Amino acid sequence: MNAAVAQEVQLNQNVQQFIAEQRKMLINGDWVDSASGQTIDVYNPATEEIIAHVPAGNHEDIDRAVAAARRAFEARVWMGMTPSERGRIIWKIGDLILDNLEELAQLESLDNGKPISVARVADVPLSADMFHYMAGWATKIEGDTISLSVPYAPGAQFHAYTIKEPVGVVGQIIPWNFPLLMAAWKLAPALACGCTIVLKPAEETPLSALKLGELIQEAGVPDGVVNIVTGLGEEAGGPLAAHPDVDKVAFTGSTEVGRMIVKAAAGNLKKVSLELGGKSPNIVLADADMETAIPGAANSIFFNHGQCCAAGSRLFVQENVFDKVAQGVSDVASKMKLGPGLDPSTEMGPLVSRDQFERVTGYLELGASEGARAVSGGKRRGDKGYFVEPTVLVDTKPEMKVCREEIFGPVVTATPFKDMDDALVAAANETVYGLAAGIWTKDVGKAHSLAAKLRSGTVWINCYNIFDAALPFGGYKQSGWGREMGHEVLKNYLETKSVCINLG
Ligand code: NAP
Ligand code: MG
Repeated sequence: MNAAVAQEVQLNQNVQQFIAEQRKMLINGDWVDSASGQTIDVYNPATEEIIAHVPAGNHEDIDRAVAAARRAFEARVWMGMTPSERGRIIWKIGDLILDNLEELAQLESLDNGKPISVARVADVPLSADMFHYMAGWATKIEGDTISLSVPYAPGAQFHAYTIKEPVGVVGQIIPWNFPLLMAAWKLAPALACGCTIVLKPAEETPLSALKLGELIQEAGVPDGVVNIVTGLGEEAGGPLAAHPDVDKVAFTGSTEVGRMIVKAAAGNLKKVSLELGGKSPNIVLADADMETAIPGAANSIFFNHGQCCAAGSRLFVQENVFDKVAQGVSDVASKMKLGPGLDPSTEMGPLVSRDQFERVTGYLELGASEGARAVSGGKRRGDKGYFVEPTVLVDTKPEMKVCREEIFGPVVTATPFKDMDDALVAAANETVYGLAAGIWTKDVGKAHSLAAKLRSGTVWINCYNIFDAALPFGGYKQSGWGREMGHEVLKNYLETKSVCINLG
């Protein structure tokens, strides 16, 4: 451990032990090494130091995990339980997450770099909520009875109904920005539906998923139902997406890798759901309450260091309040306390990895060379750890790469507009993505009319980054296929069987 970090926080004894021990991955209820014996280094992004090692799973491990999930599925050890038994176990996972809140928050902060204060109030409780919410659905998955009028069978009588069945063995591949929460978003609904699962966490942040694996066992999920294979995207994720015995793949990550997942899934035409990138517009009208709109616009981009798929990375501000809002967001940025995630007073931690750090600072250089001007931030902070200053860019043009491409860091472009008209709607929608949007106004008519015209899966009005287990989330256009959360997500993990009986 780096001395600077050690001064900031007393790591929970369980966390110290968890990272000190050689981590293993979960296959068929056993904690195992990778078939190759290789491991991946896990880094603390605040210090750039190695903090743990996890198995480097590859196609052999994926084969073992898929076979275990298949056996568990065929043996009906999970879907054969009563829905209320399943629901109780899923609920227990949520309870165990809360019982282990501090340990999970510390692991998440250490591994990902996010402020511990955020992990404690957001990542961990939201993950528990996801299991608690989905526990309730286990008993409420039901089909329909349907009246038929078959035209070529006059006089015949039929009784027809649908049954909802689990889709089968599910592969789930998740990113590093909310490691525990993304695991919860994926696992909880699949478990509620009765599926068996192979989960691959991001290589950068595997620790909280492995801890969650222990809690899942403790809650009483039978062996083989949840398997967790750590490993690199190409070596473990690729074989999982392509596996002929996987019925469905659920992916969260970049649009670029999403395309690879679709191609890999084509071999056996497995079902695919995708949560991908974004370049979300956040629109401030002149009549907005500036007391909430300015900090709200800052939070929309700087929360989680901008490493949010839904980040409000394109700020559009009505021209007569443009200077006030751009300056206001810049003031928030310049006052933010950057530091290690484990320091309780930190407001923004380091970016997650060297790759991510180079990507974001690369965009800052590109923006400057394209003519964008940083009102605040614009560069690296310090010379150790992957810290980047929260940045507000002005003097941008829509064709600049910083306005078009997902930066996935604490960088917002601010652009003035004249009126709330078709040109504003066109500018807001001028992106290949369609994940989220924000609107700030006191005029309820304007808010609803604008919300209706934005091509995005979520529209937040006078708020941003509000997530709830009950509220569907997902993307239009190249931001994805399908929805996470709410009862909509169940569609991702269910098949519909139509049964038709001749009553004659
Ligand atoms: P990424 O590079 O696409 O990785 C996501 C996951 O896919 C990781 O587990 C990764 O493994 C794996 N992967 C990489 N290459 C693969 C391949 N060829 N085959 C199968 N799996 C592969 O994304 P990221 O950089 O981790 O995360 C950032 C992106 O996720 C952003 O674009 C963001 O917008 C998006 N995101 C979207 C949502 C949403 O809900 N829409 C939520 C969070 C993030 P490795 O870790 O080994 O690379
Ligand atoms: Mg990656």
